[in-house]
Amino acid sequence: MTQIVDPAKNLKAVLDDISMAAQSVDHDPENVKLVAVSKVHDEERIRPVLEAGQRIFGENRVQEAMGKWPQLREGFSDIELHLIGPLQSNKVKEAVATFDVIETVDRPKIAHALAKEFERTDRHLECYVQVNTGEEAQKAGIAPENVDAFIVMCKEELGLNIQGLMCIPPIDEEPALHFALLAEIAGRNGLSGLSMGMSSDYETAIKLGATHVRVGTAIFGSRPAPQA
Ligand SMILES: *Cc1c(COP(=O)(O)O)cnc(C)c1O
Repeated sequence: MTQIVDPAKNLKAVLDDISMAAQSVDHDPENVKLVAVSKVHDEERIRPVLEAGQRIFGENRVQEAMGKWPQLREGFSDIELHLIGPLQSNKVKEAVATFDVIETVDRPKIAHALAKEFERTDRHLECYVQVNTGEEAQKAGIAPENVDAFIVMCKEELGLNIQGLMCIPPIDEEPALHFALLAEIAGRNGLSGLSMGMSSDYETAIKLGATHVRVGTAIFGSRPAPQA
């Protein structure tokens, strides 16, 4: 079963959809950034998207990103690589060296470890707090009732550069409810960044104020199965 995928063509279609969704709610499409989620895919599949002009990419595993991105970055000075998966304490060093933005600040321990590494390296990466909007036991993120205090701790106690919030809605629920909740939490905390929306729901997310949508499958095609 060979699937023919043209990632550069898909990229263009996704960017057009983003523009239309933004315009439909009178938002400037320039303010909605596409994070092209290249996890699992190899360099051969990613390169055409880079060459088509896309510069912001998302990866969910530190090790995998360290293996692929040094080569892909060659010749491009303006790539912005986002970590969108859970970060383990023993990978913080590598993560800070490999990524430009950390979207998954999801617990105090990681917030502390990042703050320490930013200090040590003088690399103060932009961060997002991941919110577990569905309060799912198996999912990472800060519970909605604890987010306000967590943001204050990150900003004031640790000096993290918190740009906004990120969420992954439960698969069996209406994503719009979660996007609206994330926007409300960001608003009351004075945060402008909202990373929400994936291949199946990024237009909904944009209509609810997303500043970053994380789109993988709609650009790169389906991923091989074994991953959770
Ligand atoms: C894989 C992943 C995406 C992209 O999902 P698609 O459905 O392939 O667009 C977005 N966000 C996170 C956190 C992911 O892990």
